[in-house]
Parts: sequence; structure tokens; C-alpha cells
Amino acid sequence: MAIKTEVVFGNYINGRWKQEAAPPLASINPSDAEEVVGYVQNSTADVVDEAVEVAKGALLSWRKLTGAERGHYLYQAANQLESRLDEIAETLAREMGKTLPEAKGETARGVAILRYYAGEGLRADGEVIPSTDSEALMFTKRVPLGVVGVITPWNFPIAIPVWKIAPALIYGNTVVFKPATEAAVTAAKVVECFAQAGLPKGVLNLVTGSGKVIGNALVAHEHVHGLTFTGSEQTGKQIGKAAAARGAKYQLEMGGKNPVIVAEDADLHVAVDATISGAFRSTGQKCTATSRVIVAEAILQDFQELLLEKTKQITIGKALDDGVWMGPCASEAQLRTVLDYIEIGKKEGAKLLCGGKRVTDGNRAAGYFVEPTIFTNVNRHMRIAQEEIFGPVIALITAKNMEEAIEIANDSRYGLSASIFTTNIEKMLLFIDEMDAGLVRVNAESAGVELQAPFGGMKASSSHSREQGQAAKEFYTSIKTVFVKG
Ligand code: NAD
Repeated sequence: MAIKTEVVFGNYINGRWKQEAAPPLASINPSDAEEVVGYVQNSTADVVDEAVEVAKGALLSWRKLTGAERGHYLYQAANQLESRLDEIAETLAREMGKTLPEAKGETARGVAILRYYAGEGLRADGEVIPSTDSEALMFTKRVPLGVVGVITPWNFPIAIPVWKIAPALIYGNTVVFKPATEAAVTAAKVVECFAQAGLPKGVLNLVTGSGKVIGNALVAHEHVHGLTFTGSEQTGKQIGKAAAARGAKYQLEMGGKNPVIVAEDADLHVAVDATISGAFRSTGQKCTATSRVIVAEAILQDFQELLLEKTKQITIGKALDDGVWMGPCASEAQLRTVLDYIEIGKKEGAKLLCGGKRVTDGNRAAGYFVEPTIFTNVNRHMRIAQEEIFGPVIALITAKNMEEAIEIANDSRYGLSASIFTTNIEKMLLFIDEMDAGLVRVNAESAGVELQAPFGGMKASSSHSREQGQAAKEFYTSIKTVFVKG
């Protein structure tokens, strides 16, 4: 018998929460699928039209504010999110299955991103370019794109929307935000924080529902001039094609198959701890998660033993329970994908070192739990070594030397995050030079990066623009070159 909640979140359009005619969609707790965390609207394409028109209407007065004035609203939103940190982190943990400490970390990250971009409103921009005409002044200034469509995945339902919405707003754009349905209750609470901050109506609008229906409508809308997307490669490619066809600016952050190289001179404890954290935190559901571990043949045995010993210590359980290190997969579909890939790995001839099964005992019967899984005897061409699984599965591959290790690491359609563990400076430098990845890390787990630094991938991981920090400005603004004759 499902535990129902009465909480139904509306769409947020023109400063008002609004219920649509269609029955709302339930968002389920993956730690206990009998619990409904909340309901969100199952919107139609008409609602997207309405939200875009409202955002278009709000544009002129919003872009006319000074950067400092826009920044004030972001500071207020940060304060609201901070004051509701425990409550919103708990919602995130219940809705997505992220453990509470991780959920609190992500919420705090949202606060920090908002504060960073609030300050951005006061930073100098544009440049004066000397003219060859002594009576002329030539300079550049940045202008907003207009209405920006923000489309986000379920795995970081606070950090990713905030790192898109905050720069979009500070540079003078207005926004229509479409979150993933699996985490839309959390997303609605983030939007509530902006509403509580007193953001002028129409500047930020939330529309929830099916990606195929309202996501498509947002991508196709002639008045949406910028589209920022994070999600799967398949969806990203469709969005990129559709946006390019009508001349909209777009930015895509997509999948990863992130490698970690462990050299024979690595500190084994550091490498093993980072591999476990990189691969199994958030149940492996991070675009930057470690999924290929390339180990020097000479240390394979020692590395494997320590990895196995420490993996066995992982506690799997409901996201809100005390002492839990790894929560469930975020949805039944995600669990199914992970279990399917485990079968594929077995059929391909890889050997299970540990894990491989769904966990259904005790209070975990109604959740989407899976064991942390390590495959050995993997060759680099296997599907489990090439395709994004998005779950707690490691493919262990051996390499004879550093050149071969880097070659294997680069043998992927993706290029998001990559790490090396070594104490040898020459190996570090070779890796930094030759690794085709947007985020290259030394003696640190494969992961994202601090919020003030550029984030993004190479190859099929990204459309090559960068998010976060100052880099975000390149996407959310256009440059106007001004020539003034005296
Ligand atoms: P997804 O592509 O299924 O969905 C992402 C968003 O797109 C959702 O809001 C969805 O409703 C929407 N959508 C779906 N179809 C659409 C369409 N036809 N038109 C417009 N919008 C549509 O991805 P997901 O399952 O939510 O997230 C997991 C994926 O996200 C993984 O591949 C992961 O690697 C990737 N990801 C990448 C990064 C990064 O920064 N590179 C970060 C997090 C997640």
C-alpha cells in the first residue's frame, strides 16, 4: 500500500504556482518505492508556450536592472536555500536516494554557487579595443541571450539547475526551467527559494512533465534563444540538432566513462580509497563517476585485494538511515540498466570480483538497491568498458606501462573526468598532456571540480562549452562590439 503525500507542486509561471488539468505525476522514493515523495504537474506543450511568453515579457525590465540589483536576488535566494538546507536535503535524499550527508553537501553547494554568481553582478566585463581612428571609441559589451531554457537530469537536482539558473539570471536572461521528473519535487523547492527571495515575476519559471512533450516544446520554441542541457548523450544529441536547426545557442553536458589510472608507484591506500569514492558514491550515478580502473600489471594483485577488502565494508541502505554509505539506484529503470549491464559483463567473459546482485533483504525489499560491483579480466573493447552504465560498477583493466594505460584511458567516445594515481612527476605530466578529458585530476578521484573553475567534457561528453565560474559567461551572453565616432 503506497504511502501517499498530499503535497502537489504546481508549475511556477509568472510568479504564481499553478495546477494543470492533467492528473499530476508521482515522484517515488527509490529507497522505498511504496512511498510517494510528492506530485508534480504533467504539463502539455501549451504550458511551455505560456511560460516562454511570460519569460519573454519579463526580459526587458530584468536586463535593465544593474548587475548588483540582480545579484541581490541571488543573495536572497542563497539565504533562503541555506535556511531550508536540512529540509531540502532531506527531500533530495528521499526523492533521489542520495545519502543525507551527500544531499546536505549538494544543497550547501547550491548556496555557494548562488553566492558566487551574486558577486558576479559586480565584476568588470567587456574590453576597450584601440581604434585606428583617433576620433573613435571601440569597445565590447556583453548582453544577455534572452529567454534561456534549462533542462536538467535527476542525479544532481540542486547543484546542476543552480549552476545553470544563477549565471543565466545574473547576466540578464530570463529562464524557463524543466527538471527531470524523477527529482522534480526537489527542483520545485529550489524554485520556491527564488520565489521567497522576491524575484520579479516571470524571471524564473518552472514547468514539469515529460521530456518528450515539454522538453521538446522548449527546445523547439522560437523565442527560446539559449538552451542549456545536462543529461544523456542520446537526448543531448537530439536537442543539439534541433537547436542548431533554428539557430538557437546551445550547450550540452552529457555522459562519461571515466578512467582512473593506477601506476605501480601509486600510494595504494590513496588510490583504493579514491577509486571506491569515485565509483560508488551517489551509487555511481555521477557523470564523472569512476567506471574504468586501469591498473599497472605489477601491482594488480595488491590493488585488487585492498579494493575488495574496502568495498566489502560499504554499508548499503535507505538514504535517510544512519551510517549508510551507499543508497539505492534512483529509479527502477536505472536499477534495471545496471543489472542488465552486469549480465552483459558476465556474458562478455569478464569475471565478477564482487557484487553483481540486487539487494532485497531486511528493510531494503521495496527499494532499488544493488551491490557495489567489480569486474576483473575486462578487455577494453567490451561493452562494460565502453558504455556508460551510470551505476556502481567498476571495470578493472590491466596495462603493461604508462603509455598503454593512457592509450586505454583514451580509447573511449567520452572525455569528461580522468584521474591518475602516481608519485612520479613525469607520469603526472605525461597524463596531463595526453589525456583527452575536460577534467584531468592527479592523485584525486574522478569527479567534478570546485565551483569557480570551468567544468565540462571533451569528445561525446559535451558540446565543448564550459559551465561554472567565469566560463559560464561565454554561454549566457553575446558580445556586442560598439564603435562610437566622436
Ligand atoms: P536524460 O537525457 O534522460 O534526461 C535529461 C533531461 O532531459 C530530463 O529533464 C528529461 O526530461 C529531458 N528530456 C528527455 N527527453 C527529451 C527531449 N526529447 N527533449 C528535451 N528534453 C528531454 O538524462 P537523465 O537520465 O536524467 O540523466 C542521466 C544522464 O545525465 C547520464 O547520461 C549522465 O552522464 C548525464 N549527466 C551528465 C552530466 C555532465 O555534466 N556531463 C552531469 C549529470 C548527468
